[in-house]
Amino acid sequence: MTIETTTRSRLSQRVHDVPPSGIRKFFDVLATMPDVISLGVGEPDFDTPERVIEAGVASLREGRTHYTSNYGTIELREAVSRHLDGLYGLSYDPEREVLITVGVSEGMHAAIAAVIDPGDEVILAEPTYSSYLPDVVFAGGVAVPIRTRPEDAWQLDPEAVEAAVSERTKALFIGFPNNPTGAVLEPDTLLALAEIAVRHDLIVITDEIYDRLVFGGHRHEAIAALPGMKGRTIVLGGFSKAYAMTGWRIAYACAPSDLIDGMLKVHQYIIMTASTTSQDAATVAIYECEDDVARMVAEYDRRRRMFVAGLERLGLPTVEPRGAFYAFPDIRASGLSSDEFATRLLHEERVAVIPGNAFGPSGEGFVRTTLATSYEQLEEALVRIERFLGAR
Ligand code: PLP
Repeated sequence: MTIETTTRSRLSQRVHDVPPSGIRKFFDVLATMPDVISLGVGEPDFDTPERVIEAGVASLREGRTHYTSNYGTIELREAVSRHLDGLYGLSYDPEREVLITVGVSEGMHAAIAAVIDPGDEVILAEPTYSSYLPDVVFAGGVAVPIRTRPEDAWQLDPEAVEAAVSERTKALFIGFPNNPTGAVLEPDTLLALAEIAVRHDLIVITDEIYDRLVFGGHRHEAIAALPGMKGRTIVLGGFSKAYAMTGWRIAYACAPSDLIDGMLKVHQYIIMTASTTSQDAATVAIYECEDDVARMVAEYDRRRRMFVAGLERLGLPTVEPRGAFYAFPDIRASGLSSDEFATRLLHEERVAVIPGNAFGPSGEGFVRTTLATSYEQLEEALVRIERFLGAR
């Protein structure tokens, strides 16, 4: 008997084209080490608010253990619609313009899959959250990264965006408040981006998962609320960060009904519906947990002020993060690459940070640290980083 050999890969070209996650690689090492202060993971250290947990348990006890509408429960869609109206004056029809997704992760995938054809270009800011680019590649699209810089406070430069628009540009993908830089877009930047989208007839996909986590008197504004934008924007928002609900896997997308219908097609065939328990719990989060959001934001802010001041004191310049829960210090003075810095800091001082190049080449020279760990742990991390730098 002969065994047939073939050089043909068992995996698709698209899967080959997506590089392995720079973050995952790091966590695999970290998981094997004791006494590590992890400033690596991008998820709240808080538990889900008690009222939300109770709502989830009550939902199960009431026998709500079945599928919901593919769009999601009407109760949650109504809650999302009121929520965005209250925050941004954005009014979406809960029947046709809101889709409940399994995290913003699924929302991003469904949005890109719904609007991108092979060869279509998607402009996005870099450093960039690690899923944006793979989602574009999985859809056969071409990601066109625009470098953002610390000297511009990591703002996305509208002129650079305009210069990158080509005949194949279909969408502008923005994610602010930004992971990893913490940048919040200035109102005039947002306006200029909106004008470009209108001028070139682009769809805007906006990941606003950190919209509630904004500090120091800064405000997040929704691009969809600007003139000419609601009809061309897919707003992605979620519960993972502001309500400390990462494990519930629940989020939403709001857009004109034709775009939501396109996303629904993707969603219904790969997901069907988001978890019923999580939808019921998220409805309560919107109506009853404003005080919990405020409490967590205040604590992130307290940590942020202490930690960023500490990094500066150690000679690691850090643009003030105005939103999300990360600080993105410049580590170039250490003479190390961001990979070396992160690897050696982990092995020598047991502090885990993410190398900035995991967010694209323009993140080289920086590392991402999260503020979603206790104040005391952040203080201890500064002591260890100081010792690490002193040993250089
Ligand atoms: N978007 C950004 C910018 C994120 O940082 C994350 C998680 O870290 C996500 C989306 C994924 O969120 P979800 O838990 O809703 O899938």
